Amino acid sequence: MKLFNTLTKQKEEFVPLEEGHVKIYSCGPTVYQYAHIGNLRTYVFMDILRRVMKYNGYTLNHVMNITDVGHLVADADEGEDKMLKTAKEQKKTPWEIAEYFTGVFFQDAAALNIGMPEIIPKATGHINEMIEFISCLIEKGYGYETSDGIYFDIGRFNGYGKLSGLDLEGQIAGARVNVNEEKRHPADFALWKKASKEHIMQWPSPWGMGYPGWHIECSAMSRKYLGDVFDIHTGGVDHIPVHHENEIAQSEALIGKPAVNYWMHGEFLMVDNGKMSKSLGNTYTIADLKKNGIDPLAFRYLCLNANYRSKLNFTWEVIKSAQVSLDRLLEGALAHRDGTEKIEPELLSTFKREFDEAVNDDLNIPKALGVVWNIVRYGRKSKDLYGILLKMDSILGLNISNMKENPSNGIDPEIEELINQRQQARKDKNWKLADEIRDKLKGMGITLEDTPQGAKIVKN
Ligand code: AMP
Ligand code: ZN
Repeated sequence: MKLFNTLTKQKEEFVPLEEGHVKIYSCGPTVYQYAHIGNLRTYVFMDILRRVMKYNGYTLNHVMNITDVGHLVADADEGEDKMLKTAKEQKKTPWEIAEYFTGVFFQDAAALNIGMPEIIPKATGHINEMIEFISCLIEKGYGYETSDGIYFDIGRFNGYGKLSGLDLEGQIAGARVNVNEEKRHPADFALWKKASKEHIMQWPSPWGMGYPGWHIECSAMSRKYLGDVFDIHTGGVDHIPVHHENEIAQSEALIGKPAVNYWMHGEFLMVDNGKMSKSLGNTYTIADLKKNGIDPLAFRYLCLNANYRSKLNFTWEVIKSAQVSLDRLLEGALAHRDGTEKIEPELLSTFKREFDEAVNDDLNIPKALGVVWNIVRYGRKSKDLYGILLKMDSILGLNISNMKENPSNGIDPEIEELINQRQQARKDKNWKLADEIRDKLKGMGITLEDTPQGAKIVKN
């Protein structure tokens, strides 16, 4: 299979370090607020990579960190820690904030059928590993101490900027005004920050009480769980110029060779052709989609329609049409499940070959979906075709096998959720709650009739 490597800027044949096994590291979420659908697009890409690897028979050791300390408001060394900022605003501890938003992230990921990595370490659980990593960097002459922390000396590292193609001068121009006079180079970045007494998150270190910089967590945790060198590193494109350059500098400085063989980056999701921003009120979440009657899997379907290396534009019109297409696709698959025709083995293997070629060509899922549609629309309806659709769905993750007889067309996910809650209430013999939900549904124009097989909707 071929994968596009950001480092070499070309598609390369994927050769794992260990036959039949892939080691992947993905930069995980900063758990200080609800993930927006842009963040989630990046994790759909990560999931597709996982699924294609499994489809090809690889076993996985995949690590994704949870950033619960150290990620400042700007990706570089300026501003407040994102966790602390939210904690103050919500009058909670940063640990409470992290726990809540990590939970929501897992729920959102589950709603999108995003398979979770085998190992999900938290930054705050690996402070010692980071301190050890930083101590080694200082010992090797790559780290130096200032009055406010420990910095990485990028002037000492040959090759800084090789991922983004920016040279040191470019990095200087890109760096904001150099507020820290003690830094040797404007783009030197913090490995460790010394903390004032009031700072909530702080740990003892050889350099006094403090907290780690954001970049060091990924270098320290990838090394702990995957070893010095691993196969693939993923993240969003915004991580290329700062976070991943810094990870490369730290890890390579420590081990004396590249730590990552293939760097892969997912392009951005745009909204109304622009950046998502709080001030524009367009940082949508999974909850926003559901509120508008959109199945989260319609968002997954939308993501699959674009190559992961292309920008994708979200509008309400586009997502509604993705919902219609997904419903049609599921209905089409259902027709094959009930089909009785026999299909020639040659045709089945042609479909499979075209699909495999697409997914193995740098995860060309839009092309693979084209093959799926050719099968769905195929005139003769056949269980054989349904069988290969199910295999393909092990990559697509669109729930072809457990679709409802009457796909979401018509049933609002919110209504479905209420029906499920009422069923549970009846099981629990909580008749009061069950009646309340029935009345609420009635108010929404849905009348339920209880049958021995469960509740049936009688449309008003
Ligand atoms: P964060 O929680 O800010 O650390 O970001 C989590 C992931 O989302 C990172 O891999 C980012 O690169 C990615 N990301 C942020 N914004 C977008 C966007 N608009 N589209 C796609 N990915 C994004
Ligand atoms: Zn990272």
